[in-house]
Amino acid sequence: MIGVFAPAEDQPVIREFFELFKTPWEFGRAGGKTEVAIWSRAEVPQTDAKLVLIFGGDTNSFDRANGLQTHPRISNRILSHEGRWLPTYGNCVTFGKSAGATLTVEDTGESALWEISAGGQTFIRIGYDLFQEIRLLLTSGQPFAHASTPTLEMHITLLRGLITGHSIPLIEIPPVPAGHAFIACLTHDVDHIGIRNHKFDHTMFGFFYRATMGSAMDFLQGKKSLKQVCLNWQAAASLPFVHLGIARDFWHPFDRYLEIEKGLASTFFVIPKKGEPGVNARGQRPAKRAASYDVAELADTLKKLEAAGNEIGVHGIDAWRDKVAGSEERERISRLTGAAEFGVRMHWLYFDERSPVWLEAAGFIYDSTVGYNETIGYRAGTIQVFKPLPAERLLELPMHIMDTALFYPSYLNLSSKQAEAMIFPFIENAVHFGGVLTVNWHDRSIVPERLWDGFYIWLLAQLKAKRAWFATAAKTVSWFRKRRSVTFEQIENGRIKIRGGGNDSLPGLRVRIFRPDINGAKFVEIPLQDGMEICPAG
Ligand SMILES: [Zn+2]
Repeated sequence: MIGVFAPAEDQPVIREFFELFKTPWEFGRAGGKTEVAIWSRAEVPQTDAKLVLIFGGDTNSFDRANGLQTHPRISNRILSHEGRWLPTYGNCVTFGKSAGATLTVEDTGESALWEISAGGQTFIRIGYDLFQEIRLLLTSGQPFAHASTPTLEMHITLLRGLITGHSIPLIEIPPVPAGHAFIACLTHDVDHIGIRNHKFDHTMFGFFYRATMGSAMDFLQGKKSLKQVCLNWQAAASLPFVHLGIARDFWHPFDRYLEIEKGLASTFFVIPKKGEPGVNARGQRPAKRAASYDVAELADTLKKLEAAGNEIGVHGIDAWRDKVAGSEERERISRLTGAAEFGVRMHWLYFDERSPVWLEAAGFIYDSTVGYNETIGYRAGTIQVFKPLPAERLLELPMHIMDTALFYPSYLNLSSKQAEAMIFPFIENAVHFGGVLTVNWHDRSIVPERLWDGFYIWLLAQLKAKRAWFATAAKTVSWFRKRRSVTFEQIENGRIKIRGGGNDSLPGLRVRIFRPDINGAKFVEIPLQDGMEICPAG
């Protein structure tokens, strides 16, 4: 059991942190008996905990009492732990160079960790403020430069390592669905549904240019094959006939998705209002943001997609800033699909710090907007579904890999080979940490002129090979909700009673036990059963 001592204002972020690092803990109290005590921005009182972890990015009373030489606090330090980066964004103090340091500043090699043992107790001073870092990740998120680092998971890794590394037993419910390595959540933002809706507008002329001249240039740069160029020219030549209604609309990709994703469940976010650009953060109404389709045209397609096990969500316009608009957007889709519980991702990823409150008030059960437009990565530093701090119940499914970020000339502008190389570490992270890898492939990305279908099929094969559980956004969120519902209670003789974990059709939860006496292995894992009792010490 971990006891946490921190200012009252940090309590919401601490609660959320321990939903992500799902292990027994409590808020520290006078006379409380815990083996591990964490102090963050609080005075360090007397304790008999075996391991005392003191976090903080400024020199504190512990440093003064122990005559610790702290080096100037600087924000935005990149730390290194077990060969992986751990960027920090708030203040960070260091303690000079020491051989064998396990947490160091990446460029200077100074140690950001200081340890002393006395009288059967170990005190470890860590030079940053853990919960301020977590707060920043879960609110504003991390900058573009560290997009590829799952920073929040690294904070958990460091903390877990400090505890188990000092021979203290630990139990944890890992974010890993039983029988799988991680969750793959395939999603599609449906921005167009057909080129027939675009007569002589910027979208149609844009398509025509990219399919003809653009494809030829892509071919010369090795980004498209000759076959793909031919497909695009064919599509461009068929455009007048598509508009006349005598040729197939090549921008209507739903049957192709059903074919590619056969047996896998995915989520389609559809725009509820035709011709409505919505309002951006500066109060402007960018005309290009408006959808040219009326979602009612898709009624039969949506039924077909749902019948195949897929989910329909809202690709929101104004829901991010207005709960009345959000309710209307939600109800429009609910009337078409008959579904009551589903989520939203905002078109163009419009979002601000109050959005979780408006989306929750509008009746959405999750949001999946937190991600980057311009790159792939972990905006909130996490591979896990989390509860945004201002929300009561709404959960956030972070979006990690988006096709347009990979391939748009104005974003990463990668070739297929470069994109594969960039995605590999994300799959490795999913295998290593568990959690969910959320992919957004736009509706028209698998047809002319983008033709990113081959790449998407490659990605699905990688995810299958790594034992992903393919789940819709709603099921992914439900699985994390089930994990969040688990409670730990300390009973007599250091035993922990575990409740929750429910009986449902979703993959089960597992209990991971780290114990110093496990021969060679780092941990053992057993299926979680409601009401089970475990003695972490063995
Ligand atoms: Zn969109």
